[in-house]
Amino acid sequence: MRLSELRTGEKGVIVKVMGRGAFRKRIIEMGFIRGKEVDVIQNAPLKDPIHYRVMGYDVSLRRNDAKMIEVVSAAEFAEADTLQPENRSADSYILPSNKSLQAMAMHKGKTINVALVGNPNCGKTSLFNFASGAHEHVGNYSGVTVDAKAGTFHQNGYTFKIVDLPGTYSLSAYTPEELYVRKHLNEEQPDVVINVVDASNLERNLYLTCQLIDMDMRMVIALNMYDELERHGNKFDHESLARMIGTPIVPTVSKTGFGIEDLFNRVIKVYEEEDPVLRHIHINYGDVLEKAIYSVRHELKLNGNVSKSLSKRYLSIKLLEGDPEVESFVKALPGSETVIQERDRCAAQIEALLKEDCETAFTNARYGFISGALRETYEPNKIHEATSTQIIDLFVTHKVLGFPIFILFMWVMFEATFRVGEYPMGWIESLVGWISEFVRGNMSEGPLKDLLVDGIIGGVGGVIVFLPNILILYAFISFMEDSGYMARAAFIMDKIMHKMGLHGKSFIPLVMGFGCNVPAIMASRTIESRNSRMITMLVNPLMSCSARLPVYVLLTGAFFPQTAGTVMLILYSSGILLAVLMARLFKRFLFNEEDVPFVMELPPYRMPTGKSIVIHMWEKAKQYLHKMGGIILIASILIWFLGYFPRHSEGGDIFDKQIAEIEQTETNEEKRTEAIAELERLKSMEHQQNSYIGRIGQTIQPILHPLGFDWKMSVSLLTGMAAKEVVVSTLSVLYTGESDDEQVLTERLKQDRNAEGEPVFTPLIALSFMLFVLIYFPCIATISAIVNESGSWKWGLFVIAYTCTLAWVVSCLVYQTGHFFMNLFG
Ligand code: GDP
Ligand code: MG
Repeated sequence: MRLSELRTGEKGVIVKVMGRGAFRKRIIEMGFIRGKEVDVIQNAPLKDPIHYRVMGYDVSLRRNDAKMIEVVSAAEFAEADTLQPENRSADSYILPSNKSLQAMAMHKGKTINVALVGNPNCGKTSLFNFASGAHEHVGNYSGVTVDAKAGTFHQNGYTFKIVDLPGTYSLSAYTPEELYVRKHLNEEQPDVVINVVDASNLERNLYLTCQLIDMDMRMVIALNMYDELERHGNKFDHESLARMIGTPIVPTVSKTGFGIEDLFNRVIKVYEEEDPVLRHIHINYGDVLEKAIYSVRHELKLNGNVSKSLSKRYLSIKLLEGDPEVESFVKALPGSETVIQERDRCAAQIEALLKEDCETAFTNARYGFISGALRETYEPNKIHEATSTQIIDLFVTHKVLGFPIFILFMWVMFEATFRVGEYPMGWIESLVGWISEFVRGNMSEGPLKDLLVDGIIGGVGGVIVFLPNILILYAFISFMEDSGYMARAAFIMDKIMHKMGLHGKSFIPLVMGFGCNVPAIMASRTIESRNSRMITMLVNPLMSCSARLPVYVLLTGAFFPQTAGTVMLILYSSGILLAVLMARLFKRFLFNEEDVPFVMELPPYRMPTGKSIVIHMWEKAKQYLHKMGGIILIASILIWFLGYFPRHSEGGDIFDKQIAEIEQTETNEEKRTEAIAELERLKSMEHQQNSYIGRIGQTIQPILHPLGFDWKMSVSLLTGMAAKEVVVSTLSVLYTGESDDEQVLTERLKQDRNAEGEPVFTPLIALSFMLFVLIYFPCIATISAIVNESGSWKWGLFVIAYTCTLAWVVSCLVYQTGHFFMNLFG
């Protein structure tokens, strides 16, 4: 707990003093040292300051300052102790001895809270993963880490609680990421900040370092990508720079783990204030700015209402830069008018003297500091400078050449996904077939067997065959991400995407949607702008995923045998076209604020490690298998149940009777089997029609009548909500009963007649049906992904509503127009 929370007369033992360097130093000098006892002499709820006794001296502390000291109290000790009864001795339970309290304080003091701060793409998440053993997503483009991730690990008797923060270039209050990081640093007060710096791009990375120095954070710099620095033959005397800026610098390669142990040993040293390099420096902003900082700081001091735990120099700099957050914070302090007046006066002076606005003046001064620091310590290898990255980029991001290269890449990806995927798909299919034959042959007849074979194995097996395609797709996508090509793809697509109200980065999730909408929606996390992210998620279901393919294959095969390819192309393009249309509508009506422009950085190409690609593939496979084990399993069982029951009906009994009759009377062997098969089919159809799902289908059929669908199609659309592949398996059950041979199914579809003797399926109805399957209710897993990623049920329901409405409207238009013209021309 915090020292400020102890009441009068209570006692605590100090765990640690949080906050920035200078403040901590002063508090520690007063005697607030880990393991020492503090007594509260006087702590009245509304009174400030609070009186304490520590090391025999009476001291008074502001409430806000006392909040920065962590202690353990007797009550806390007792609570922790009861949790571990074996540790409890009779007297320590009632009144902990000072020794055991101290031991607890010492132990607690060995937990170090560490925050990872750095530019996007500098390797924070890799470092985090290596240290904490996590598998967070690492990608070679910015914005992969959107929210903070926490992890724990131990080294040398210390426990590290690490937080991986979003990447930022600066700590001004412009983007949500910057605000997020700043808020974390101010509110969570990490004990030590690890500033991850990309050694291959020192100048830009050190800008953030300057701001952290201003904030007076205790920090260690991880000089990451050290391998690249060495490979390029650049010389960097990081030890001198460390001394110059009073911050330890440890070279690391977070991809391989090189230097990470040293890094955390330095963190311990800094935490324990034992590091020889550690020293708080002031960045020299030059005469004009320093004078202004001095005057504003002086006013802040005179005001006296600012907590000592905040650096007044930092506040002054931020005030002069016109930082809105700091400004409103200061304005809320009593008597702050004089401070703001002084700021305004100084700012005007700076602008007059330097002929640039204040903020720019500070930015320029920081870059001046950096280039000065680097000139003394850094010597780039001139010969190597025209890097291979620049040469490749010349082609890949070329205005004209970029697109064919990109299309080629996509083509290879899809070809491999479907062609190469066919083989393992066949293996899985035969494995599933073998298992269901095995079960069929080894179980006694009954509902349980039917459930296992038709419900579970049939339902889940029909979907699991897509696992290889998904793995191959992800191998490609991981390769493109990690190598840096994805960033280029986003770059060249940026202009087109902007026309849709989206961002270049939206392109990646949209492409992934052709594989499976679920991971695609998760991938939209990488888009920084919330507006673009939301629109990308909302239109993603319109990208025709691979689960819809079986439906297209079946129906185009039956009704458009000559023009199957063209129809398929029409379907895919309709999806894209509708996505563009809806994106523009959403942009216009739901997310119409202007986006802040983002830097589309082009990270250097890197050969991805096989390990990271395998990790990605495995992560996706896990997600997919999870979907199998959960939603699809449940849906399969449910659909099976609804289709299986009720078992008996009058109609069914009549067929049974007829079958028995024929068995007895018909003598011609061939004719008999044929007749029985036909009767079996009619019986199972009667059963389907009479089953619960059949009844539901007949109930909703009137709504779908204007689109040309009968009750069987309605039922398959209902079941297809679980996963679109299920549409095919349902149709095969409804049309052929036992056998699901595709040849037979297409024939049955064509020959089916309604009560009036008209065909149930026509090419027009098939088209309308396929469009409906493309657009309506994506699938339960996609909806749950949208709910997770958007953080609200509302958007899940919204997607259901809009896709179903849109599907109805489109199919209705197609069917009715087609119908009209067909009548017109006979
Ligand atoms: P973040 O955006 O800061 O979280 O960065 P990531 O951890 O996602 O890493 C970005 C890219 O840099 C990935 O492709 C990593 O594999 C790669 N990377 C990370 N650390 C190193 C390193 O030390 N050396 C090299 N060569 N590449 C690295
Ligand atoms: Mg990251």
